[in-house]
Amino acid sequence: MRVGIGHDTHRLESGRPLWIGGVQVPSDRGAVGHSDADVLLHAVTDALLGSGGLGDIGQWFPDTDPQYAGADSSRFVEIARDELAGLGLAVVNLDVIVFAESPRLSGFASAIRERLATLLETDIDRINFKAKTGEGVGPVGRGEAIEATAAVLVDGHGADREASETT
Ligand code: MG
Repeated sequence: MRVGIGHDTHRLESGRPLWIGGVQVPSDRGAVGHSDADVLLHAVTDALLGSGGLGDIGQWFPDTDPQYAGADSSRFVEIARDELAGLGLAVVNLDVIVFAESPRLSGFASAIRERLATLLETDIDRINFKAKTGEGVGPVGRGEAIEATAAVLVDGHGADREASETT
């Protein structure tokens, strides 16, 4: 078994869409970024890459690369997932936290968990979602930023199973 963690921060600005975990959340402010600025998918991508010892999202998907301008960050997660699969690793479970003063995200938990489960080709009961505010202090609390943290556990049972099936 291997563990990975990821964390990401994006600035918030009015008049932009807000993507969280592959779900568009109605908000008067959205995250600023080179891609679709999905803070949660970026944290999840980094957690996945970390679990496989594969470096970080900036090495794989540089924010200076024009091909990632406005990119759907789901792609980053899928590529990281496939790289892990290539190492014989599959997700055991994923736990995430999104830090945002607004909007309140509890109503989107199911949709976000479902989207993450689909992207990771796993069951929704292996995905846990938590949302927290910034308690009115700091960049999150002032509504200037959104942050996300992700922790993932992966294991090599998929590889073992594959190996035993082919022998
Ligand atoms: Mg990011």
